[in-house]
Amino acid sequence: MTEPVISRPLHALTIEELEESLFALGEPSYRSKQVLDWAYHRDKRVEEWGAMKNLPASLRAKLGELHPIRIPEVVTVSGSKDTTRKFLLRLHDGELIETVLIPASPALYGDESDRRTLCVSSQVGCAYGCKFCASGLDGWKRHLSADEIVSQVLLAEKISGERINNLVFMGMGEPMANYNNWLQAVSILNAPWGIGLGARKMTVSTSGLVPRIRDLADQSLQIRLAISLHGASDEVRSRIMPVNQKYPVAELMDACAYYSDRKKQMITFEYILIEGVNDDPSEARLLAERAKGLRAKINLIPYNTVEGLVWKRPSEQSQEEFLSILRNRGIAATIRREKGHDIDAACGQLRRRIAPSPGDILA
Ligand code: SAH
Ligand code: SF4
Repeated sequence: MTEPVISRPLHALTIEELEESLFALGEPSYRSKQVLDWAYHRDKRVEEWGAMKNLPASLRAKLGELHPIRIPEVVTVSGSKDTTRKFLLRLHDGELIETVLIPASPALYGDESDRRTLCVSSQVGCAYGCKFCASGLDGWKRHLSADEIVSQVLLAEKISGERINNLVFMGMGEPMANYNNWLQAVSILNAPWGIGLGARKMTVSTSGLVPRIRDLADQSLQIRLAISLHGASDEVRSRIMPVNQKYPVAELMDACAYYSDRKKQMITFEYILIEGVNDDPSEARLLAERAKGLRAKINLIPYNTVEGLVWKRPSEQSQEEFLSILRNRGIAATIRREKGHDIDAACGQLRRRIAPSPGDILA
């Protein structure tokens, strides 16, 4: 359940909800447009109610109490203008999350070449405990609220001075496990009065929460779907992704087919290559079959080493072999030569390095 409109932060509200709140205060509904213009217009984006000059002071005070503005604090920015930049953000309760800005990189999730992609987090930590992933290592802390998701985009645009034109929900956390807040954030990011980013420019990645994939398929938003598959058989997938015990591959494929059908859209399978775990040619052949049935694209991702974990990426030669098995079967597959390896850009890694161990004090 999302929080009631009353007391929800400004950047978590839709225009209708803000109007509802203004109505309850006896204010005309045109005020909502004024407020949202201050909040989201590219030349304004004010971070305090006091700055909304065309609103009466008494109204600003009342709205400020009902709908606080909570922009996270930027702890560090790593990387440089031409490379992947990673923002470590501190939330109002001290929790840390990551947002990663990836400069143009054709042929990843579309074909625009001047693309600036932002990789957004949806939770603090993750409950799904995939064996290879840094985000799940310390377990799940909490969901992000809709404004905490929206502000990652606001902050990235503010710091970089660039407009984000592509969003991937591939940061820390499982977006589908925070479905209501996440969807609320998506509608704000998508709205013309909000960030105004087309749904087709957004990709949500999930480890395979079947019921939520079906729910999203029934929504009208044309958002893109990526599945963290990482194993084509139940045997391999269950070994590295506990979620597979709840939603085995066949059920997941059915939900993907449903999504593809409803949205008339090609989905993407993400497949991390981990040496000796899921890189066997037999797994590649099965993966090709799965993709063929759905006409899905495949992104192969050489595993990014995580401190404290034993997994490794296969040699370039076996990566290429895996790729050619897919391509020889007519599958649209690419290897993602990822940027940002040097700054721990794989999800959850920077936070783990900076986050305090129990007993530490963070300035
Ligand atoms: N929870 C969602 C969203 C996070 S996306 C999901 O799992 O899809 C993060 C992506 O990065 C996922 O595909 C995940 O499997 C992948 N990933 C996690 N750890 C990684 C690592 N060490 N190297 C490469 N990719 C990794
Ligand atoms: Fe969670 Fe995704 Fe990492 Fe799995 S891969 S632990 S679902 S963030």
